[in-house]
Amino acid sequence: MNYILQNHDYTDDIVTTIMMFYPNEKYTQPTDTNEPCVISALQDGEAVAAYRKDGAATAEIHIKTDVSNEHSVRFALRTAVFRCLMQIKPIKAPWGTLTGVRPAKLVWKMWGEGLTDAEVYRSLSEDYFVTDEKISLAMKVAKSEKRIVENGRGKIGMYIGIPFCPTRCLYCSFTSYPLDKYEKKVDLYLDALEKEIKFTAGLIENLDLESIYIGGGTPTSLNEKQLERLLTMVSKNFKKPLEYTAEAGRPDTINLEKLRILKDFDVSRISINPQTLNDETLEAIGRRHTVSEFYRAFELARQAGHDHINTDIILGLPGENESHITNTMNGLERLSPESITVHTLAVKRASRLKETLENYDLTDFDLMEKMLDITAKRTAQMGMQPYYMYRQKNMLGNFENVGYCKQGCECIYNVQIMEEQQSIIALGAGGSTKTVEKTPQGDKIERIFNVKSVDDYITRIDEMIQRKEKGLEILKNE
Ligand code: SF4
Repeated sequence: MNYILQNHDYTDDIVTTIMMFYPNEKYTQPTDTNEPCVISALQDGEAVAAYRKDGAATAEIHIKTDVSNEHSVRFALRTAVFRCLMQIKPIKAPWGTLTGVRPAKLVWKMWGEGLTDAEVYRSLSEDYFVTDEKISLAMKVAKSEKRIVENGRGKIGMYIGIPFCPTRCLYCSFTSYPLDKYEKKVDLYLDALEKEIKFTAGLIENLDLESIYIGGGTPTSLNEKQLERLLTMVSKNFKKPLEYTAEAGRPDTINLEKLRILKDFDVSRISINPQTLNDETLEAIGRRHTVSEFYRAFELARQAGHDHINTDIILGLPGENESHITNTMNGLERLSPESITVHTLAVKRASRLKETLENYDLTDFDLMEKMLDITAKRTAQMGMQPYYMYRQKNMLGNFENVGYCKQGCECIYNVQIMEEQQSIIALGAGGSTKTVEKTPQGDKIERIFNVKSVDDYITRIDEMIQRKEKGLEILKNE
């Protein structure tokens, strides 16, 4: 879809709104004025959106705005485009004009401004066009997060990335390298990571480390010796956090010994992710493990003493419908994990799925809605509540990812990373550190990036350390 901006440059606001109506397309400035095009303009104190075809406007919306207030201008520009395109191509938009990653954060903001629950509800419904069901979800999540966010004030979190996996999944856009090609690099990677861990430990020794999250990739792709080495580095350099998670995402990387090593090093939460409990889908998405391997991995984890296990699933995987999701939920119910994270498939730019999109019939809105409904009902029957949530670009049906858990089994790290009230230091290739500085004008968020490529991370580790030294200066005043 083409677009033209006039008198403003809020490209991201406009393109993400257009994406809701025209997903998985190219969004470009037109070269031919007769091509269909969305025009977003700021003129005479108004946000104006028009849809133009064959040189003539076929729909046009004007919204008054306070041009001196950036928030108000962006809100009006997005709303104008949304309402204009609703006339041209009506869609079901459960989250209305909300294009951001964290809907619960908006609830927090409104509470912070003194709005009551009823006023928050009204605003989400009338100003943002969010459906009743999603408002209720956002408010439940925001309430559940409140306690965790408040308990974590003045503390920090940590992410450590292990960017290796047995194979690359169809939908993956993470920093992840297949082990068959990168096996020889793993020890060099751990050498570099050790340097970064030691240096960072010196920088944060006086800070209160609330959570550590070892993710990836798949940390359990490391062999037993490497896993032990990694966990030793962590325990030697950092105080024991309140919560210590390690992803053991791929069942084909897990054995009893690795699970025992995780337990011995006081890892308090692990995540074993089937994504689906249907073998033909697992094969189609390139996971290279079976449903029975997942069951076995889960049982071994219980045998090793893990009493806090999360399982991730994805809705909208190729060929799946309600019966597949019911089957997946039946299997999970038998295992009784402490939490289940339900993802909606997103077509991410760096994924194989995006490259080969023409080979797939993406799940439509109605089916996605039914499948989400099944997971919401089944998790409730399992005694779980939604406790965190986020959205991504290009999610099927513009829905959301939701973490459900049994009482007291919330993942602190997941909540803190979403709500951005706490600094989170990220180590390893692709790590993106976020510092949150409390100022009289509000929270000031800065990021420090590590390079994504494993090879660059290994050769440029001293530069990564220098970036951290400079960027984490701010934490000394905490
Ligand atoms: S297991 Fe996760 S990180 Fe690894 S390839 Fe699959 S989606 Fe990517």
